[in-house]
Amino acid sequence: MSRTPIIAGNWKMFKTVSEAVTFFNGVKGQAEVEGVESVICAPFTALPALVEAAKGTSIKIGAQNVHFEDNGAFTGEISGVMLKDLDVDYVIIGHSERRAYFAESDEIVNKKVHAAFKHDLAPIVCVGEKLEEREAGQTKEVCKVQTEAAFKGIDAEQAKQVVIAYEPIWAIGTGKSSTAEDANEVIAYIRSLVASLYDGSVADAVRIQYGGSVKPANVREYMGQSDIDGALVGGASLETDSYIQLVQGAK
Ligand code: PGA
Repeated sequence: MSRTPIIAGNWKMFKTVSEAVTFFNGVKGQAEVEGVESVICAPFTALPALVEAAKGTSIKIGAQNVHFEDNGAFTGEISGVMLKDLDVDYVIIGHSERRAYFAESDEIVNKKVHAAFKHDLAPIVCVGEKLEEREAGQTKEVCKVQTEAAFKGIDAEQAKQVVIAYEPIWAIGTGKSSTAEDANEVIAYIRSLVASLYDGSVADAVRIQYGGSVKPANVREYMGQSDIDGALVGGASLETDSYIQLVQGAK
Protein backbone atom coordinates (compact mmCIF):
# COMPACT_ATOMS: atom_id res chain seq x y z
CA MET A 1 0.00 0.00 0.00
CA SER A 2 1.31 3.44 -0.72
CA ARG A 3 1.02 5.96 2.05
CA THR A 4 0.81 9.70 1.34
CA PRO A 5 3.86 11.41 2.84
CA ILE A 6 2.99 14.03 5.43
CA ILE A 7 5.11 17.00 6.47
CA ALA A 8 3.80 18.78 9.54
CA GLY A 9 5.26 22.00 10.85
CA ASN A 10 5.05 22.33 14.62
CA TRP A 11 5.42 26.01 15.31
CA LYS A 12 5.33 25.57 19.10
CA MET A 13 4.94 28.95 20.86
CA PHE A 14 5.99 31.07 17.90
CA LYS A 15 4.22 33.58 15.62
CA THR A 16 1.56 36.20 16.16
CA VAL A 17 -1.54 36.20 13.97
CA SER A 18 -0.04 38.62 11.46
CA GLU A 19 3.25 36.69 11.34
CA ALA A 20 1.30 33.48 10.74
CA VAL A 21 -0.68 34.95 7.85
CA THR A 22 2.43 36.47 6.28
CA PHE A 23 4.13 33.08 6.53
CA PHE A 24 1.14 31.33 4.97
CA ASN A 25 1.00 33.72 2.04
CA GLY A 26 4.70 33.12 1.54
CA VAL A 27 4.42 29.34 1.28
CA LYS A 28 1.09 28.68 -0.42
CA GLY A 29 1.54 27.38 -3.93
CA GLN A 30 5.15 26.30 -3.43
CA ALA A 31 4.41 24.26 -0.32
CA GLU A 32 1.56 22.53 -2.16
CA VAL A 33 3.05 19.50 -3.82
CA GLU A 34 0.90 16.83 -5.38
CA GLY A 35 1.19 13.58 -3.47
CA VAL A 36 2.47 15.23 -0.28
CA GLU A 37 0.27 16.35 2.58
CA SER A 38 1.37 19.61 4.16
CA VAL A 39 0.11 20.58 7.62
CA ILE A 40 0.84 23.66 9.71
CA CYS A 41 0.31 23.24 13.45
CA ALA A 42 0.09 26.70 14.94
CA PRO A 43 -0.70 28.30 18.30
CA PHE A 44 -4.43 28.46 19.04
CA THR A 45 -4.54 32.23 18.56
CA ALA A 46 -3.40 31.97 14.91
CA LEU A 47 -5.76 29.12 13.95
CA PRO A 48 -8.84 31.11 12.79
CA ALA A 49 -6.76 33.32 10.47
CA LEU A 50 -4.82 30.33 9.13
CA VAL A 51 -7.95 28.29 8.46
CA GLU A 52 -9.30 31.26 6.53
CA ALA A 53 -6.05 31.74 4.61
CA ALA A 54 -5.90 28.03 3.78
CA LYS A 55 -9.30 27.98 2.06
CA GLY A 56 -8.84 26.98 -1.57
CA THR A 57 -5.34 25.61 -0.90
CA SER A 58 -4.31 22.02 -0.13
CA ILE A 59 -2.48 22.99 3.06
CA LYS A 60 -4.09 21.63 6.21
CA ILE A 61 -4.13 23.40 9.56
CA GLY A 62 -3.56 21.74 12.92
CA ALA A 63 -3.54 22.60 16.61
CA GLN A 64 -0.77 21.56 19.00
CA ASN A 65 -2.94 20.34 21.86
CA VAL A 66 -6.53 19.62 22.82
CA HIS A 67 -8.24 19.00 26.14
CA PHE A 68 -10.04 15.66 26.46
CA GLU A 69 -13.30 17.12 27.82
CA ASP A 70 -15.74 19.00 25.57
CA ASN A 71 -16.12 21.87 28.03
CA GLY A 72 -15.98 22.55 31.74
CA ALA A 73 -14.00 24.25 34.47
CA PHE A 74 -10.56 23.80 32.92
CA THR A 75 -9.07 27.28 32.97
CA GLY A 76 -6.87 27.99 29.98
CA GLU A 77 -7.76 24.84 28.04
CA ILE A 78 -9.20 24.39 24.53
CA SER A 79 -11.50 21.52 23.57
CA GLY A 80 -12.14 19.45 20.48
CA VAL A 81 -15.54 21.12 20.11
CA MET A 82 -13.79 24.47 19.83
CA LEU A 83 -11.18 23.23 17.35
CA LYS A 84 -13.76 21.60 15.14
CA ASP A 85 -15.80 24.77 15.24
CA LEU A 86 -12.78 26.49 13.68
CA ASP A 87 -12.52 23.75 11.04
CA VAL A 88 -9.08 22.62 12.10
CA ASP A 89 -8.01 19.31 10.51
CA TYR A 90 -5.23 17.96 12.72
CA VAL A 91 -4.09 18.07 16.32
CA ILE A 92 -0.73 17.11 17.79
CA ILE A 93 -1.17 14.97 20.90
CA GLY A 94 1.41 13.98 23.50
CA HIS A 95 4.33 16.01 22.21
CA SER A 96 7.32 15.37 24.48
CA GLU A 97 7.24 19.01 25.61
CA ARG A 98 3.66 18.51 26.80
CA ARG A 99 4.63 15.26 28.49
CA ALA A 100 7.66 16.86 30.17
CA TYR A 101 6.43 20.37 31.07
CA PHE A 102 2.71 19.81 31.46
CA ALA A 103 2.72 16.34 33.02
CA GLU A 104 0.80 14.60 30.24
CA SER A 105 0.71 10.91 31.03
CA ASP A 106 0.05 8.06 28.62
CA GLU A 107 -3.47 7.90 30.02
CA ILE A 108 -4.11 11.58 29.26
CA VAL A 109 -2.66 11.12 25.78
CA ASN A 110 -5.09 8.27 25.18
CA LYS A 111 -8.05 10.36 26.38
CA LYS A 112 -6.99 13.11 23.99
CA VAL A 113 -6.80 10.68 21.06
CA HIS A 114 -10.39 9.65 21.85
CA ALA A 115 -11.42 13.31 22.06
CA ALA A 116 -9.81 13.99 18.68
CA PHE A 117 -11.83 11.23 17.00
CA LYS A 118 -15.00 12.32 18.76
CA HIS A 119 -14.62 15.68 17.04
CA ASP A 120 -13.31 14.48 13.71
CA LEU A 121 -9.79 15.80 14.18
CA ALA A 122 -6.91 13.68 12.90
CA PRO A 123 -4.41 13.07 15.70
CA ILE A 124 -0.64 13.28 15.29
CA VAL A 125 0.49 11.23 18.28
CA CYS A 126 4.06 11.70 19.48
CA VAL A 127 6.16 8.95 21.01
CA GLY A 128 9.87 8.73 21.69
CA GLU A 129 12.59 8.02 24.20
CA LYS A 130 14.78 10.23 26.37
CA LEU A 131 18.56 10.17 26.01
CA GLU A 132 19.06 8.06 29.13
CA GLU A 133 16.47 5.58 27.91
CA ARG A 134 18.24 5.29 24.56
CA GLU A 135 21.57 4.79 26.30
CA ALA A 136 20.03 2.11 28.49
CA GLY A 137 18.80 0.26 25.40
CA GLN A 138 15.14 0.97 26.22
CA THR A 139 14.11 2.80 23.04
CA LYS A 140 11.76 0.12 21.72
CA GLU A 141 10.25 -0.63 25.12
CA VAL A 142 9.46 3.06 25.69
CA CYS A 143 7.88 3.36 22.24
CA LYS A 144 5.90 0.17 22.88
CA VAL A 145 4.42 1.41 26.15
CA GLN A 146 3.56 4.83 24.69
CA THR A 147 2.12 3.47 21.44
CA GLU A 148 0.00 0.78 23.08
CA ALA A 149 -1.36 3.28 25.59
CA ALA A 150 -2.20 5.85 22.90
CA PHE A 151 -4.22 3.32 20.87
CA LYS A 152 -6.22 1.90 23.79
CA GLY A 153 -9.89 1.64 22.83
CA ILE A 154 -9.29 3.03 19.33
CA ASP A 155 -10.93 0.88 16.65
CA ALA A 156 -9.21 -0.27 13.47
CA GLU A 157 -10.85 2.29 11.18
CA GLN A 158 -9.78 5.10 13.49
CA ALA A 159 -6.33 3.62 13.95
CA LYS A 160 -5.69 3.88 10.20
CA GLN A 161 -6.16 7.63 10.43
CA VAL A 162 -3.70 8.17 13.25
CA VAL A 163 -0.38 9.74 12.33
CA ILE A 164 2.38 8.68 14.71
CA ALA A 165 5.41 10.93 15.12
CA TYR A 166 8.46 9.11 16.41
CA GLU A 167 10.55 11.81 18.05
CA PRO A 168 13.59 10.78 20.07
CA ILE A 169 13.60 13.50 22.72
CA TRP A 170 17.37 13.99 22.58
CA ALA A 171 17.01 14.97 18.92
CA ILE A 172 14.37 17.68 19.38
CA GLY A 173 15.68 21.18 18.88
CA THR A 174 19.25 20.03 19.48
CA GLY A 175 20.56 19.75 15.95
CA LYS A 176 21.43 16.12 16.83
CA SER A 177 19.19 14.10 14.57
CA SER A 178 18.82 10.36 14.64
CA THR A 179 20.42 8.67 11.64
CA ALA A 180 17.87 7.81 8.98
CA GLU A 181 18.64 4.11 9.43
CA ASP A 182 18.16 4.20 13.21
CA ALA A 183 14.93 6.18 12.85
CA ASN A 184 13.68 3.73 10.24
CA GLU A 185 14.42 0.76 12.47
CA VAL A 186 12.40 2.20 15.36
CA ILE A 187 9.60 3.28 13.03
CA ALA A 188 9.41 -0.19 11.45
CA TYR A 189 9.21 -1.57 14.98
CA ILE A 190 6.34 0.82 15.82
CA ARG A 191 4.58 -0.33 12.65
CA SER A 192 4.96 -3.93 13.78
CA LEU A 193 3.38 -2.96 17.10
CA VAL A 194 0.38 -1.51 15.25
CA ALA A 195 0.14 -4.78 13.30
CA SER A 196 0.06 -6.74 16.54
CA LEU A 197 -2.59 -4.44 18.03
CA TYR A 198 -4.75 -4.59 14.88
CA ASP A 199 -3.61 -6.31 11.68
CA GLY A 200 -1.35 -5.86 8.69
CA SER A 201 -3.76 -3.65 6.78
CA VAL A 202 -3.94 -1.13 9.63
CA ALA A 203 -0.16 -1.19 10.02
CA ASP A 204 0.20 -0.60 6.26
CA ALA A 205 -2.16 2.37 6.38
CA VAL A 206 -0.80 4.17 9.45
CA ARG A 207 1.62 6.95 8.63
CA ILE A 208 4.64 7.28 10.88
CA GLN A 209 6.75 10.41 10.81
CA TYR A 210 10.22 10.99 12.13
CA GLY A 211 10.78 14.17 14.14
CA GLY A 212 13.86 15.74 15.70
CA SER A 213 16.08 18.28 13.95
CA VAL A 214 14.68 17.58 10.49
CA LYS A 215 15.72 20.25 8.00
CA PRO A 216 15.83 20.73 4.24
CA ALA A 217 19.35 19.26 4.15
CA ASN A 218 18.34 15.89 5.65
CA VAL A 219 14.64 15.46 4.85
CA ARG A 220 15.30 13.42 1.68
CA GLU A 221 17.44 10.96 3.60
CA TYR A 222 14.56 10.22 5.97
CA MET A 223 12.02 10.09 3.18
CA GLY A 224 14.17 7.56 1.34
CA GLN A 225 13.65 5.00 4.12
CA SER A 226 11.13 2.19 3.78
CA ASP A 227 8.97 3.00 6.80
CA ILE A 228 9.30 6.76 7.26
CA ASP A 229 6.24 8.54 5.89
CA GLY A 230 7.10 12.13 6.66
CA ALA A 231 8.38 14.46 9.31
CA LEU A 232 7.17 16.54 12.24
CA VAL A 233 9.35 19.62 12.12
CA GLY A 234 9.83 22.33 14.72
CA GLY A 235 12.59 24.88 14.13
CA ALA A 236 12.91 24.38 10.38
CA SER A 237 9.17 24.91 9.84
CA LEU A 238 9.29 28.53 10.97
CA GLU A 239 10.92 30.05 7.88
CA THR A 240 9.07 30.10 4.58
CA ASP A 241 11.96 28.96 2.36
CA SER A 242 12.84 26.13 4.65
CA TYR A 243 9.22 24.96 4.96
CA ILE A 244 8.79 24.98 1.20
CA GLN A 245 11.95 22.90 0.78
CA LEU A 246 10.78 20.42 3.39
CA VAL A 247 7.48 19.84 1.61
CA GLN A 248 9.18 19.65 -1.78
CA GLY A 249 11.78 17.28 -0.34
CA ALA A 250 9.11 14.85 0.81
CA LYS A 251 8.07 13.95 -2.71
P1 PGA B 1 12.75 20.28 15.93
O1 PGA B 1 11.39 19.92 16.74
O2 PGA B 1 12.47 20.01 14.48
O3 PGA B 1 12.99 21.72 16.21
O4 PGA B 1 13.82 19.38 16.45
C1 PGA B 1 10.63 18.81 16.40
C2 PGA B 1 9.41 18.73 17.28
O5 PGA B 1 9.49 19.09 18.47
O6 PGA B 1 8.33 18.32 16.83
